[in-house]
Amino acid sequence: MAVIIQKYGGTSVGSPEKIKFVAGKVAKRYREGNDIAVVVSAMSGETDKLIRLAKELSSSPAPREMDVLVSTGEQVTIALLTMALKDLGVPARSLLAFQIGIKTDDAYMKARIQEIDVDLLKKTFAAKEVAVVAGFQGITEDGDITTLGRGGSDTSAVALAAVLGAELCEIYTDVDGVYTCDPNICNKARRLDKITYDEMLEMASLGAKVLQTRSVEFAKKYNVPILVKSTFSDEGGTLTTKEDSDMEKEVVSGITYDKNEAKITILGVQDKPGVAAKLFSPLSDNNINVDMIIQNVSSDGKQADLSFTVTKTDYDKAMKIVKAMISDLGARDVVGDPSIAKISIVGVGMRSHAGVASKMFSALSSVGINIQMISTSEIKVSCVIDEKFIELGVRVLHEAFELDKTGSAVA
Ligand code: ADP
Ligand code: ASP
Ligand code: MG
Repeated sequence: MAVIIQKYGGTSVGSPEKIKFVAGKVAKRYREGNDIAVVVSAMSGETDKLIRLAKELSSSPAPREMDVLVSTGEQVTIALLTMALKDLGVPARSLLAFQIGIKTDDAYMKARIQEIDVDLLKKTFAAKEVAVVAGFQGITEDGDITTLGRGGSDTSAVALAAVLGAELCEIYTDVDGVYTCDPNICNKARRLDKITYDEMLEMASLGAKVLQTRSVEFAKKYNVPILVKSTFSDEGGTLTTKEDSDMEKEVVSGITYDKNEAKITILGVQDKPGVAAKLFSPLSDNNINVDMIIQNVSSDGKQADLSFTVTKTDYDKAMKIVKAMISDLGARDVVGDPSIAKISIVGVGMRSHAGVASKMFSALSSVGINIQMISTSEIKVSCVIDEKFIELGVRVLHEAFELDKTGSAVA
């Protein structure tokens, strides 16, 4: 008997037929004698629909109320899946975050899980019931509903796997694993059998939405392997796990893109100590994450241009804050560009190979794509480019690094 944690994403529970299918899969594992917690997302499109509804009413809906609203999608699916399980003769219980004490901080819409009280889940298992848990949601110390950011059900599932000491967290979705790039935009994408936590962390944070970044952070911290599988096929699967000696150390394992980026440039900033602090503190005070930053060298030693990126979601808010600071920063002007995107290559093998970044730059330039900003880490290189070239960029990089074959090329 094992503790099994499964998570089913929105498309997997997108219709009554699909919910019945998922119930059948869960029932099979239950009948093998396992303790099962199933985490579910809202039906596909439902969270987007709720967000649109809020935007029709208010241009800047209060984050606390947004969470009360968007968390309802998961309440629907846990009830429906539980009904379907009961119809199959499987005892089951739907559980909202407050009922199993998924405690978070109060950063509405991007809350972080702080602790989970596993007692109720354990009681559910002791009563031989399947626990059907609402993903994406949490509860603050004061009893307010929070949500964990888009795609947050992955994190709910991995956090449950961690606290329950499960050997594996199974994530069921509409693709049969993690690919070298988004299989929906690149037909040469190749499924990876295994990927390290570090690579998956980079891929997720750079745009591969197949797993939410925080779920991978949790998995790495508590050493919970994640198995990404297709709900509707037994084939394939990708295991995200710690690096081991017989893992292939691909130079480049994957290409990712993120269209949710926007660029802000402040022209003629004074080139003196304290200016960056003055600029970025109000942004972080307003919960705006800044991603890439570049400041050019001033030719006269007095003034420089400074560019940085934020998410498109935060763009308007960030522009407003920066515009209000122009005179205080001694700057000339501020210009924004929300039509950019970030394209990245990721791979642990980069640590020991030279020439990877230059190969990326050459490949992009070979199809006339201009690079606006660059950032690197030990295992990734990212470039900001015009949003309209993203799909072309992904394809050309996939080809340049020969990702359709095993063993990626450098030179
Ligand atoms: P779910 O609703 O099951 O959580 P998501 O839509 O959040 O599913 O994530 C699955 C999607 O992630 C796929 O349909 C695919 O388009 C996208 N995706 C992006 N990058 C990758 C990648 N490298 N490998 C697999 N899927 C990816
Ligand atoms: N329903 C939420 C979303 O669409 C959470 C999730 O699907 O993981 O972002
Ligand atoms: Mg998802």
